[in-house]
Parts: sequence; structure tokens; C-alpha cells
Amino acid sequence: MILIDGKKAAAELREELKQEVADLKTKYNKVPGLTVILIGDMAPSQIYVRNKEKSAIEVGLKSEVIKYPDTVEEKIVLEKIEELNNDETVSGILVQLPLPKHIDKQKVIETITPSKDVDGFHPMNVGNLSSGYESSVPCTPLGCYLMIKKIEPNLSGKKAVVVGRSNLNGKPMTQLLLKENCTVTITHSRTKDLKAECLEADIIVAAVGIPELVKGDWVKKDAIVIDVGINKTENGLVGDVAFDEVSKVAKALTPVPGGVGPMTIACLLKNTVECFKRSQK
Ligand code: NAP
Repeated sequence: MILIDGKKAAAELREELKQEVADLKTKYNKVPGLTVILIGDMAPSQIYVRNKEKSAIEVGLKSEVIKYPDTVEEKIVLEKIEELNNDETVSGILVQLPLPKHIDKQKVIETITPSKDVDGFHPMNVGNLSSGYESSVPCTPLGCYLMIKKIEPNLSGKKAVVVGRSNLNGKPMTQLLLKENCTVTITHSRTKDLKAECLEADIIVAAVGIPELVKGDWVKKDAIVIDVGINKTENGLVGDVAFDEVSKVAKALTPVPGGVGPMTIACLLKNTVECFKRSQK
């Protein structure tokens, strides 16, 4: 079984991006810039943002973090986003979620200009992705996609089952696999027989949030299994896939932690570089 090493894949992607950023600097005499807006002092968000900033600097991006207290008025945040939309040194804007209750998440997402939407959450990017046009793609499914493609470069005709239909993970993952000519089944909490669906799959992507939901006897021999889930349990962090059981049947499997997670941040950097390149066209 191939243990898909997300840390290694992310390090390789960062190395490629570092070279690309250096080449862009030579060509345009400027580097892509990523601005993250962080509202409040929730510990996980602070850690995510710190890691994003560290990785951005490591590959040579211009990185900026703008912090507000969780009492900040929505108007102030929207005005700042407008300012960043018009700032030529900013290639990508990310507002760290979740937001305090008094701030309308959808309004924030829709205020970021689609060409700087490095999270790929703007309805314009969502529509472009599902229409097969150029777009920013949400970072976690993009990371899953890149890892699947490394294992199996030709996905045409493969049967894929995506477990979970969130806008963040399941839906964009489905679009990426469709673009690769997979036959995709998207499943969710009302799916009648999830085990039977999974048993049909050459590729399973689980993005649910239920510890070890996908069992060993749900997986066809030699399937590729990508585990997006991050679940805190008494035994530490576990994914949505029963790792020990599934590793005995799968051809390739991502661990939790150390699988999808590290690729998510590397893909944010990739999206920032892509936004910069599109803005130079
Ligand atoms: P979400 O928005 O809560 O969506 C969960 C999806 O799972 C929903 O579509 C839900 O169906 C479906 N579901 C729930 N119970 C199910 C069941 N018994 N059988 C089949 N489907 C079921 O979650 P999310 O934001 O996509 O996140 C999913 C997991 O990924 C979480 O553990 C999260 O922490 C993790 N995550 C990891 C990363 C990373 O970088 N590795 C990034 C983001 C999220 P309905 O639509 O019918 O409710």
C-alpha cells in the first residue's frame, strides 16, 4: 500500500512555487502578495493564519495579516476588502473563517473580487469551476486532486465516490474529478447505502467529519482513498477513514494527520501565484 505523504507532497509543491515566484520576480520585478484578514482571537484560527503566513514567506510571497477584534463592525471589514481589491500589490485575499455571528459570511465572500479569491468560495469561481472554466479552486479539494493525480495520472473512466457534499470540500472535489472524466457519485447523510456506493469506487474521497466512518469492508481492493476528515477523539486526531482496516485493502491512502492537511496550505500559496499570473495577462 502506498502511504500518501502529504507533508512531502506539500514540501515539493512549496519548492516548485518558490522557484516560480523567483522567476516571476525576475520577469515582472514584483512578487505575488497574499493578505489574510483574521477576526477575533480563536486559537485554531490564529494557528492556521500563522502557518499560512510562515509558508507564504518561505516561498517568497509578500505576506500580510490584518487583525481585527471580534467586535469589529462588518462595515469596516467590507471597506478593508474593497481597499485590498483595488491594491495592485495584493494578488490574493483570504478572510479566515469562522467569523463572529454579527458578520455575514456570504457578504464577506462576495465582496472579495473573484480574481483575488484565493479560497475559491466566490459564487463566480464556484460557477466557473462547475462550468469547466478557469477559476480559483478551494484549497483542500485542490490538494486532494493533486495527490490523486500523482498516484494515478489518467483518471478517465474511473469510478469516484465523494462522501460529503459541503461547498468547502465535497462539491468542488466532485467538479475536479468530473473534469478528469471520472464517473462521480456524490453521497451525503441521506444516502441509502453508503457502503454499497463506496464498494463501487476506484477512488474514495471522504469529507464528512465522522471518525472512521469508512470501514475496511467498504473499500474495493486497490482503490485510492483520500481522507479529508479531522476529528478530535480520546485517542487523538483521526480521519473519516478507519486507517488500519482500509490500509489492508487500498492501493493508496492518506494518513491523518500528515495527509490532506499540509497540502491545503501549499494549495493556498499555489492559488495566490495563479491569481498573480492571471492578473499579469
Ligand atoms: P460539513 O460542512 O460538516 O459537511 C459534512 C458532509 O458530510 C455533509 O455533506 C453531510 O451530509 C455529510 N455527512 C454527514 N453525515 C454523514 C453520513 N453518516 N454519511 C454520509 N455523509 C454524511 O464538513 P466539511 O467542512 O466538508 O468538513 C468535513 C471534514 O473535513 C471535517 O472533519 C473537517 O474538520 C475536515 N476538514 C479538513 C480540512 C483539511 O485541510 N484536511 C479542511 C477542511 C475540513 P448533508 O449535506 O446531508 O448534511
